[in-house]
Amino acid sequence: MKVLVSDSLSQSGLDLLCNQPNITTDLRPGLSPDELITLIGDYDALIIRSRTQVTKAVIEAANNLKVIGRAGVGVDNIDVSSATQKGILVFNTPAGNTVAAAEHTIALMLSLSRHILTAGVSLRNQEWSRGKFMGSELYGKTFGVIGVGRIGSEVIRRLQAFDMKLLAYDPYISVQAADRLGVKLVDRNTLIQTADYISIHVPLTPETHHSISTDEFALMKPNCRLVNCARGGIIDESALYIALKDQQIAGAALDVFEHEPPADHRLMGLDNFLATPHLGASTTEAQNMVAIEVAQKVIDSLHQLPIENAVNQPNMEKFDVLQPYLRLAERIGSFQSQIVEGQISGIRIRYNGEIFNQDVTLVSVAVQAGLLRPILQGNVNYVSAPLEIKQRGISISETKHSTPNQFTNSLAVTVVTNQGERIIEGTVLTSDDIRLVSIDDIHLHAEPEGHMIVIYNRDQPGMIGMIGTMLGDYGINIADMAVGRKDEEDHALMLINVDSKVPRHVVEKIKSLPTIMFVKQVEF
Ligand code: NAD
Repeated sequence: MKVLVSDSLSQSGLDLLCNQPNITTDLRPGLSPDELITLIGDYDALIIRSRTQVTKAVIEAANNLKVIGRAGVGVDNIDVSSATQKGILVFNTPAGNTVAAAEHTIALMLSLSRHILTAGVSLRNQEWSRGKFMGSELYGKTFGVIGVGRIGSEVIRRLQAFDMKLLAYDPYISVQAADRLGVKLVDRNTLIQTADYISIHVPLTPETHHSISTDEFALMKPNCRLVNCARGGIIDESALYIALKDQQIAGAALDVFEHEPPADHRLMGLDNFLATPHLGASTTEAQNMVAIEVAQKVIDSLHQLPIENAVNQPNMEKFDVLQPYLRLAERIGSFQSQIVEGQISGIRIRYNGEIFNQDVTLVSVAVQAGLLRPILQGNVNYVSAPLEIKQRGISISETKHSTPNQFTNSLAVTVVTNQGERIIEGTVLTSDDIRLVSIDDIHLHAEPEGHMIVIYNRDQPGMIGMIGTMLGDYGINIADMAVGRKDEEDHALMLINVDSKVPRHVVEKIKSLPTIMFVKQVEF
């Protein structure tokens, strides 16, 4: 079997591959896209980092390829859907650099607090200016972490030693899981308003893109110090420049930028700004771990052994009958995740209809994978989803009713949070036509596809026209609209399929209307 390594990889990983008797490994970093297309047909496995672009053309030419291993986290340089269609497994190695990124976060917090960069530069310029660099301590301060996943949790564990008050915002972990970690869950605004240090550890998603911007800086304390070791684009860098220049906050440190390397150098001229060139994962230990992990998983998968962290599920044809229900389950899970409010504690799944008389474990797993996918950057599969849900302290329960309700077969998923419950039900009309049929017991018919907006509004005349006009004014075309209401209640629900993503300011504008109670954007 032949493995192509088309980006640089630590020697430890290469040694592991080269010691396999039945595997030949070629290290060819720096291949051009055309060279990769010409060569790939010979290989059974491909190992990459972030440089190699595995495009549709590469996949089409990859006639023997069984597996693509990404050393690191992001898989945005791989056309995962083409790989899935061709039955090629794609996996990543997200855990290997957790400690490195957590330690880098704390290094940046301390460097900001003690002016390590500016004081060091001043000394190199042969100045001895002690008074200019008065620092501040972490001890006794409030630390707020946004995103309590692998890295956020490790940062929290390490900061316990600094005797800080620890707050966290992450709607997708339970209070019990946070208690175990020793961190108090709060809502987003409370964290932003009360923290002396804020560190971001969420993926870059439509929800988190520019989620720290002018409004958030206006809420922060003047002594707040902000760190982003997660992904560029989560912080709006233009708004950050103004906040730092006007000393609205005390300082910020970025390891990641919206465009890397950054083209706009205004931030670099500010004394209260500190930056590193995406070094979070750059330790010898992390690179070795990632290289060994990617190599071992390629070896395992070439020997037909199951592996963790697959980001796609090729070869699912054997679940043919359930296939559309898996899709429906994933879509409902994802929908729930994108509109959730409050802190999730449980998921209840109700099956109605005869098709569910068979083993439905996989459908339940699909709900869980769907729920996690929008918040974990796609780093979830049918093996990891139940483990991830359990670790987050989210309970799962199922009930089966062989009698159909309104539809021959339907699936209803209730998400329970500290703010209440939301139930979404869907059905399969034909093998490629799935529908949402009710939300919070309000009946409607909507295709969970593309870009959607969910609106709860006061049930009064003119609402549909008003929203339609407003979207039209911003050049957003409505493809489909489902509306519904409950007779005894004064609110109605609109579910709108639109042709393009609705910009955040338009969503905010709709939200600000007095007759609108709830607006969220969902995308699949
Ligand atoms: P993870 O998937 O383990 O954790 C992410 C957490 O964010 C999850 O707990 C999720 O529930 C939470 N989350 C998602 N959307 C949220 C939202 N809108 N609001 C609040 N919480 C939300 O990921 P991880 O391994 O801890 O990585 C965190 C980030 O660090 C990722 O963006 C990753 O790409 C990045 N990273 C950067 C470097 C670097 O070199 N600087 C290295 C490794 C990872």
